[in-house]
Amino acid sequence: MVTEALPFWNTKTLEEMTPEEWESLCDGCGRCCLQKLEDIDTGLYFYTNVACRLLNDETCRCKNYPERIALVKDCLVLSPTDRQHYDWLPVSCAYRRLAHGLDLEWWHPLVSGNPDTVHEAKISVRNRTIGEDRVPEEQLEEHIVSWIDF
Ligand code: SF4
Ligand code: SF4
Repeated sequence: MVTEALPFWNTKTLEEMTPEEWESLCDGCGRCCLQKLEDIDTGLYFYTNVACRLLNDETCRCKNYPERIALVKDCLVLSPTDRQHYDWLPVSCAYRRLAHGLDLEWWHPLVSGNPDTVHEAKISVRNRTIGEDRVPEEQLEEHIVSWIDF
């Protein structure tokens, strides 16, 4: 009998993953690079379609990933021990899903073997964002959108 080995995200905790495994969990959706608004009464986060100035709307990747922390003061670097920050991640995000005991969805590139499935499934923000330089802060509320959730 042949038993297939389970993938690393099913056998390791987030803390046990190698840096390469950890990075590969990012599906490239770009959602965490959108401006979010927090309701101070409920603590709920609302996503907008307004993107960080360094987000490439076509690839949904950061235009300067190595220097992002120096260039964008509120860009947050996720780590396995930063779980208090996972709640503002979209529910589709692999880091949040695994932290909550959920598996990766079919469109995740690690599952599909194809980096385009995150775009085909409309999980990514491809071609649907507006640069933050074009939206005054007081107008952010008008840009709240409901992205497809899983
Ligand atoms: S929301 Fe999660 S999966 Fe999507 S780009 Fe951000 S870190 Fe990667
Ligand atoms: S600087 Fe941070 S928030 Fe902005 S696009 Fe890059 S990774 Fe996303």
